[in-house]
Amino acid sequence: MLGINAIVIGSLAVGRNELWAEDVKLTDPVAVALCYSEDSKNVNSSDPKCSRHKPDQNCSNCQLYKAKPGDKRGLCDVFQKKMVSASGWCASWVKRA
Ligand code: SF4
Repeated sequence: MLGINAIVIGSLAVGRNELWAEDVKLTDPVAVALCYSEDSKNVNSSDPKCSRHKPDQNCSNCQLYKAKPGDKRGLCDVFQKKMVSASGWCASWVKRA
């Protein structure tokens, strides 16, 4: 019985959207067009699509990233509610206000 209670409490701590959202695939046409990378350190800034990239930019400090502090993945509005990496980056990065 304790195990069932722990599962229910654990599920409540995570938002419903996060439970069911898919990860963005690197082959997703939007991801390719926006130069999405799972790790900002690996962005090829010499690629014209990625030219806006700065080393201190990543999903966790982007206005469009929806996650709690410390989460390794979160939802991104650009990718229609799919999950991106906190350390990722794409050309739609917007400084968090
Ligand atoms: S819009 Fe922001 S949160 Fe979404 S993938 Fe691009 S950098 Fe990451």
